[in-house]
Amino acid sequence: MSPAAATSLYALLGRPVAGNPTQEMLEAAFAAAGLDARYVSLDVEDGALADAVRGLRALGVQGAHVTVPHKVAVVSMLDRLTDAARLAAAVNCVKREGDALVGDNTDGKGFLSSLRGVIDPKGKSAVVIGAGGAGRAIVAELSLAGAARIILVNRTLARAEEIAAAIGAPCEAAQLTEPWTVPAHADIVVQATTVGMGDSEARLPLDWSEAAGIAADVVIAPPRTAFLRDAEAAGRQTLEGLGMLVEQAIFGFRWWTGIEPDADAMRDALVRELGTPALVA
Ligand code: NAP
Repeated sequence: MSPAAATSLYALLGRPVAGNPTQEMLEAAFAAAGLDARYVSLDVEDGALADAVRGLRALGVQGAHVTVPHKVAVVSMLDRLTDAARLAAAVNCVKREGDALVGDNTDGKGFLSSLRGVIDPKGKSAVVIGAGGAGRAIVAELSLAGAARIILVNRTLARAEEIAAAIGAPCEAAQLTEPWTVPAHADIVVQATTVGMGDSEARLPLDWSEAAGIAADVVIAPPRTAFLRDAEAAGRQTLEGLGMLVEQAIFGFRWWTGIEPDADAMRDALVRELGTPALVA
């Protein structure tokens, strides 16, 4: 066998992928584990996803991350799904098992790992704003983690209602109004919309005057979103989306390789890439 054939290939499929630091984290983990593996970030246009997935099969790619806007569309292109992917109805991590491509969803698990650094959601009341792929995955994991009450708030109410019906109790749907008052009973408030992505001044129309819980954002760049700054100004403890990113990358590496990754090497790579050491603790 030639040396080239021994190199394992991994990929990120998304659009845009520029600025996504997942490649740096995974390459650092492969290097720390001494694995002969390469990870490439691939910009895939909307209409090209099916071809890209056929490409993963043809090229013998061992695993892939799937990010915005392809997480839902990729579901029907895979051979099997994990329970988490089925519950989330979205895939962000793919593994080759023999000739089959298996889809998992590690977004919710990554968020929960990060959240558990500051609060255990068991028995707690949570508000999740955003009923897209990230919101759905987070609500599913909060439910599995034993949250007592989950209010899923969304601009398009029907999307939140569909997810609340699929998850069942303790999840309920609510309309995002302008303004929307963050309720005093919420121990955890999660910003899981795309608002704030690439725009440090973009914010949801939230009223923080009654809020009492921890505020967590899923947005990665910029990490210090207007949501988090507003929550902090209202006296709330905050949690950035970068912790979730590291944790979900750890889940993916472990699933692909069966090896426990060097989490410090992954965090260091993220810090080098984004230059925000205080935010990745
Ligand atoms: P998505 O499936 O496209 O969903 C977008 C969500 O944002 C929907 O709930 C949408 O509401 C809402 N939204 C968009 N614009 C809005 C506006 N102007 N006002 C109110 N709501 C608005 O996206 P996604 O995959 O869930 O991703 C959401 C965010 O999570 C992104 O910033 C992504 O980068 C981030 N993320 C982070 C991590 C991490 O590791 N930290 C992992 C995964 C995702 P409607 O339903 O009404 O359109």
